[in-house]
Amino acid sequence: MRRSAFRVPSSALEVLPASLATADRIHTQITSDDRAERAERGTRNAELGETVRRLADERDAVILAHNYQVPEIQDIADFVGDSLGLAIQARKTDAPVIVMCGVYFMAETAKIVNPERTVLSPDPTAGCSLADSITLRDLRRWKSEHPEAVVVSYVNTTAEIKAESDYCVTSGNAEAVVRSIPADQEILFLPDQFLGSWLKERTGRENMHIWLGECHVHAGIRPEEVRARQEAYADADLLIHPECGCASACVWANGRGVMNPRTYVLSTEGMVKHASTSAADTFVVATETGILHRLHKEIQGKRFVAADENAVCGYMKQITLEKVRDTLRDLAPTVEVPSPIADRARIAIDRMLAVHA
Ligand code: SF4
Repeated sequence: MRRSAFRVPSSALEVLPASLATADRIHTQITSDDRAERAERGTRNAELGETVRRLADERDAVILAHNYQVPEIQDIADFVGDSLGLAIQARKTDAPVIVMCGVYFMAETAKIVNPERTVLSPDPTAGCSLADSITLRDLRRWKSEHPEAVVVSYVNTTAEIKAESDYCVTSGNAEAVVRSIPADQEILFLPDQFLGSWLKERTGRENMHIWLGECHVHAGIRPEEVRARQEAYADADLLIHPECGCASACVWANGRGVMNPRTYVLSTEGMVKHASTSAADTFVVATETGILHRLHKEIQGKRFVAADENAVCGYMKQITLEKVRDTLRDLAPTVEVPSPIADRARIAIDRMLAVHA
């Protein structure tokens, strides 16, 4: 909204009660400060962005950014995508340096699929609550309880967990991978319980055991919030990431005709594709809010509304332009994955990429 809409002429201020007049002055001051700060930040980001691009050219580096990165990172990246897209780009690039703007397991995956390259992580402390919800010890114990089971791991896992897995999957190909495994084969699916429940419902797979892990951001998006937003935008398509706490409930309700039929459970890449081809012009989006920048940028003339504005991943937001600049300048910190782990993890990742192809 334009600032002028909030301004009250000075003559009107005189007739307002003192408390309201003061509140209006404060509001005008805040919006004015906000605008100045935004302009300053815009200039700073533009300068930093130019520095980053210049350093990337000097280093012959490719910058890969996840859909949940802040807008200024997405804007300077060579490629913006989901975990699967980033892994594909990391594998096929011939650039000697890869800068991974995402959380740490994504940088590990890039190193595993392209061990000859230098992989840089602008902030190696950017973790992931979902990846951290299962440890190597947990997985080994679980496997010992189901010695014949095939282990299917979502890509949001550490290199160590991938190395103990038979398949790695993303939300974009998990269903195809599960369907490709013989029906009588027991499956251990980890670590996301919501994606696992969604897969179980979709495939009717009774012999699939699900680890009770979750992402704190997606788990925080509740069915009642999504339903309220959908009621407010009655003509909108509802796009839900399968990691969301609401996904399983929505799929269940959808299958029974309870939910709005314009509900789509999609990976973030699937959301972009769906929104560009759908006849709808408004979309309620249930995933981390960073995806809204890409949707607005790539699909002009349509409206995208967050199902929950608080669905923000602090880990993803740890990556800043300053950190990207520093990592390119210093060529550090580099990402290293010990060969015995990388070699075994690569088998699971290659299977994921093969099913995608
Ligand atoms: S949004 Fe969730 S799954 Fe994605 S990086 Fe953040 S914590 Fe991990």
